Amino acid sequence: MSKYEIVIGMEVHAELLTQSKQFCACPNEAVAPPNTNVCPVCLGFPGSLPVLNAKSVDLSLRTVLAFDSKINTRCIFERKNYFYPDLPKAYQVSQRLLPLGEGGFIDIDVPNGDGTSTVKRVGLHDVHMEEDTGKSQHGESIGDPDSSLIDFNRSGIPLLEIVSLPDMRSVEEAEAYMTALRQLLLYLEVSDCKMELGRLRFEASLSLRPWGQEEYGTRVEVKNLNSMKAVRDSLRAEIERQTRILDSGGVVVQQTMLWDEASGTTQPMRSKEQAHDYRYFPEPDLVPLDIDSAWLERVRASMPELPRAKNQRFIEQLGLSSYEAGVLTSSREIAEYYEAALEGYTKSDGGAAKAISNWVCNELLGRVNAQNSSIAEAKVLPAQLRELVQLIDAGTISGKIAKEIFDEMFTSGRDAKSIVEERGLTQMSDTTELEAICEKVIAANPKAVEDYRGGKEKSFGALVGGVMKETKGRANPALVNELLKKALTQ
Ligand SMILES: [Zn+2]
Repeated sequence: MSKYEIVIGMEVHAELLTQSKQFCACPNEAVAPPNTNVCPVCLGFPGSLPVLNAKSVDLSLRTVLAFDSKINTRCIFERKNYFYPDLPKAYQVSQRLLPLGEGGFIDIDVPNGDGTSTVKRVGLHDVHMEEDTGKSQHGESIGDPDSSLIDFNRSGIPLLEIVSLPDMRSVEEAEAYMTALRQLLLYLEVSDCKMELGRLRFEASLSLRPWGQEEYGTRVEVKNLNSMKAVRDSLRAEIERQTRILDSGGVVVQQTMLWDEASGTTQPMRSKEQAHDYRYFPEPDLVPLDIDSAWLERVRASMPELPRAKNQRFIEQLGLSSYEAGVLTSSREIAEYYEAALEGYTKSDGGAAKAISNWVCNELLGRVNAQNSSIAEAKVLPAQLRELVQLIDAGTISGKIAKEIFDEMFTSGRDAKSIVEERGLTQMSDTTELEAICEKVIAANPKAVEDYRGGKEKSFGALVGGVMKETKGRANPALVNELLKKALTQ
């Protein structure tokens, strides 16, 4: 065990799913030809005036409601002053003194390493609204070591910054936090969370302290993390680096580090600014944002069921295992598919929820994952899946044949019924017809018959298999069992 306790906090930037930017009417698009989604406001022309995007407030409110944060129904925007080439105004509109949300929490599932997990609550410091900056590209990445290019399409895209407390104590907890937060933002439909496009960005701050010490060590921020793997790898590298410094009696310097994927190391970027370096002051071009109770209630009413509540309900009310509930609620699309397939479906033995769960978790998701696609792209609609399961229940097809039919449905999107009719796959339940086939199989397998009569139960399976083969899997298995037993005891 290491001599030091790990302390991790996270700052997360999520670009919101609005049509237009935070303070102007330019489109909010992740991909567009450079500098095409721009106007005087988001290019920071002197004299241009910002107008706040109401949809962005709706989405931000939805998020702080989900976090159970304290909501400042009167909040203000401030200018965070700093110069950067991709920030033409030389300030970013943000919130500090009165952010939209203060406090709140996210519950995460921390794996125990044995397949189980423990719930841990990670506190939030605040959640605030701001605007994104432009994007700079330098040197080799644009094929010219002496040049830099700037694209202002991203300038002014609505951002929500979610700042956690330093509550995480391992890389695994940081990972669980990212997973839970991403899942929540996707459920809320406030961000598409495409990390590869920079729509969701994580920054970690890390410090070490001797076990038992209450005071935090000096924290270092790590930036340039464009995947969960980058966060994981950079934290491990930073833990090693700080451990080495502390072990040799050195002092960790408060600074911002950049993760360098190629070398697998963190590199110093700049010494960390203090809040007062930014000379925050209220943005004089924007009035305070007042959210009345009607607005808040309208947003509250639009909230979907959140993943944890859904998971709990699937276990308690539908009787699913925690594993199944976890798979089915892992994304909102999967959960909605499952619920749509289950709607109106009943089973006399009460196993409806379980039956549909098996088909979605194993058959459907198995095929979707093998194709590396998503459930939203699946050609089989929830009602079609339900119809297939109902055909099994009614004894029209066997479970084995159903899987073959499902293959065809998955590639063509056709209905189960039409495939069954076209291919003549209806289950054989005609006693006379099946009796004849049983006789034939018994006659052709004297050895198995002798073994079975001699007490070898296993041989019975071979005879059932023989009938199934003769009928190309269409025979009703229960009836075959019954008829074979009858024929063999005669
Ligand atoms: Zn604009």
